[in-house]
Amino acid sequence: MIQRIRGFRDILPAESGLWQYIERTAAGLFTDFGFKQIRIPLMERTELFARSIGEDTDIVEKEMYTLTDRGGDQITLRPEATASVVRAYLQNKLYATEPVQKVYTIGPMFRRERPQKGRYRQFYQINVEVLGSASALVDAQLIVMLMRLMARLEVKDVSVHLNSLGCPECRPAYRKALLAYIDGRAEVLCSDCRRRQQNNPLRVLDCKVPDCRDAMAQAPAMRDHLCDDCQAHFEACCTMLQRQDVPFEIDNRLVRGLDYYTRTTFEIQTSALGAQSAVAGGGRYDGLMAALGGPALPATGFAIGLDRLVEIVAQSVPGVADRHQRLPDLYVAALGDASQQQAYLWLCQLADEGIWAEMDFEDRSLKSQMKRADRLGAPWTLILGERELAEGRLVLRNMQTKQQQPVSLDTVVPELLGHLKA
Ligand code: AMP
Repeated sequence: MIQRIRGFRDILPAESGLWQYIERTAAGLFTDFGFKQIRIPLMERTELFARSIGEDTDIVEKEMYTLTDRGGDQITLRPEATASVVRAYLQNKLYATEPVQKVYTIGPMFRRERPQKGRYRQFYQINVEVLGSASALVDAQLIVMLMRLMARLEVKDVSVHLNSLGCPECRPAYRKALLAYIDGRAEVLCSDCRRRQQNNPLRVLDCKVPDCRDAMAQAPAMRDHLCDDCQAHFEACCTMLQRQDVPFEIDNRLVRGLDYYTRTTFEIQTSALGAQSAVAGGGRYDGLMAALGGPALPATGFAIGLDRLVEIVAQSVPGVADRHQRLPDLYVAALGDASQQQAYLWLCQLADEGIWAEMDFEDRSLKSQMKRADRLGAPWTLILGERELAEGRLVLRNMQTKQQQPVSLDTVVPELLGHLKA
């Protein structure tokens, strides 16, 4: 028997109802805020990710699924969505008709990470991006929207962590100050941090190794080096969050692993799964469009880890998975060929009316069909045997009260609709 690829997962029918509920809730909320869906390819030219994510990141260095296709092109299964969304915005010149585009997309990403609990090589993200706006209000709106989503999904213990990464004006001076600080402590840092130190010193700030954390505890903060514009931008975002009663923590160590992020950067964390963990992360990436050869337009967005969000919702809302598992409205226990054919026709008519009636095509005994009706959780059962068919009268049974009532053969569908829609 052929097995699934390591690090990949199946989302089984018993789980998919919860996934659909979360996706529906997110899409509904985003639509209320004026966002539209964008659908982007699963594969892109390798170069797109190498340039946008950065050559010296873990993703590009060792995690991408890259192959040479039969025409000789280097293509990669997308490890994230932002690069493709920006590529689509630029390639389709969406900025020409409406410069500010608000979009979301939901789908799988691929990274060849070490598989472990909650980490997959194909995982799912909900991505939201606002392209073409530099406003701090847009950053605030994205954070508020994320918090509203958590509220609609009844996820508790959610906190917002916020920082500013500055811009090409002010970051170089900060980088210098940070490098000087790191230089004095390089010998206590882990090998990854020593390697990162020159190319990507900001990454040393978010290393999880305890010795590195200790060594970086007193590191200079980007916030103390922001230029006036970045300072005003950051304050504008914070002010809007305060005015909307969204509490947040400023976290000097919050940096993004990807190179194109500027100014506002944030993470939404929850302790719903025990330890504190990030369920979504995002921020501004004003430098990306120009880096990809397009006009120098600003942008901001976030990604939610959907696998993790599903787990959080399942754990923190009792019974939520069952609530989003649809049960049949009716079970038709049909005995004999003629009854089965008749029941089958009703099933199709009821489906047209939005009623899910389930039946057994295997010709099992009445007893085993009634058992199945029970197991499926159908609230009503309609019993149809040779005799009922001959007499023109059927029995409709309420599975909870066990009460039975007659239904006339000529008017089965309208009578059922009356009962089931009542
Ligand atoms: P990132 O694109 O790395 O900023 O990640 C955004 C979100 O995606 C994170 O908060 C994670 O919850 C989720 N995520 C990233 N990598 C994985 C993975 N390998 N498996 C499951 N979820 C992931």
